[in-house]
Amino acid sequence: MTSAHISGHLNCRLHLFMGEMDLCGWTSRRVAPEAGSSMAKPRSPPPRPRVNGWSRPIHTPPVMVWTSLLALAFTSFGIFIPLLPYGLKLVAYSVSFLLVTGGLLLFHLVVLVATITIDPAEPNVRRKNYRRPGTIFDRSKLSLFTKTRYCHLCGVTVSARAKHCRACNKCTAGFDHHCKWLNNCVGSRNYWWFFTSVLSAVACLLCLMAIVTYVMIIYWVDQEALRSDPQFQKITDENTWLLFLPFIPLKVKAPVLLTIGAAVLVLVFSGLLILGYLFVFHVYIRAKGLTTLEYLKQGHSKSRENSRPRKQPLAQMEEGHAQVPRAPL
Ligand SMILES: [Zn+2]
Ligand SMILES: [Zn+2]
Repeated sequence: MTSAHISGHLNCRLHLFMGEMDLCGWTSRRVAPEAGSSMAKPRSPPPRPRVNGWSRPIHTPPVMVWTSLLALAFTSFGIFIPLLPYGLKLVAYSVSFLLVTGGLLLFHLVVLVATITIDPAEPNVRRKNYRRPGTIFDRSKLSLFTKTRYCHLCGVTVSARAKHCRACNKCTAGFDHHCKWLNNCVGSRNYWWFFTSVLSAVACLLCLMAIVTYVMIIYWVDQEALRSDPQFQKITDENTWLLFLPFIPLKVKAPVLLTIGAAVLVLVFSGLLILGYLFVFHVYIRAKGLTTLEYLKQGHSKSRENSRPRKQPLAQMEEGHAQVPRAPL
């Protein structure tokens, strides 16, 4: 497969992810209406510049991320790992699974929190008290920014790869994209934290998929192997299972266990598809020395040169034609 094929494929597939990336006014229709325009709505000051992913406003996507993460951790460690057989030959196997999966999840949580917590702002922006209220996003000032490297909104000179993010209302150093799932900009200060969080999330999901798939297969092959916990000795009905072993055993019927297993598998598989693709995309653009924004700009310029009648993907997205997946990250 040639690099042109890979590039074309990624360019095409990336449009699916555009909903999670706010490129902060790169296209003219994504910025606030200018003063004096007949279409302009009355301007209201945007919120104060945001510091990191914990700053308000916090929208639905980050809540979905944390809910999915907690749900997966809860079901995996509370339901499926305790069901793993730890018989004579499998003791080491089960214990390793617990440690490896637990360690991976802990590592992922640490890098995820770091990605969200790091303030990706430009050094000059961070040096001043930039959390002043009422900075108005004015596109005419943004055009000056690109020529002089002086941001009239932040009131500082910024570096070459910086970009004023509309969602954060401040200049981000080495701007890659604004991730609405993390509620924070991804720039040079937190890029590798972000990359590692995607990689560790993929590793966690692969691990969870292996565990749940294994339990589901053993369920159909040899149910007794899943009933190795001593508390199952009190259960005579083969259709009854115990969740949240060993501390708070909860009796459920087999269909409940199977439904939870199927739901977890669907969630894990969806997450793997989306995050796996995101990981491959970032490996690809980093190999080319590009940020997400630069990659998209490059694709946009090539498309304009070809002057094909087909609408640009960004325009399609703005008009609501492009599909936007929901990812757990
Ligand atoms: Zn700025
Ligand atoms: Zn941002």
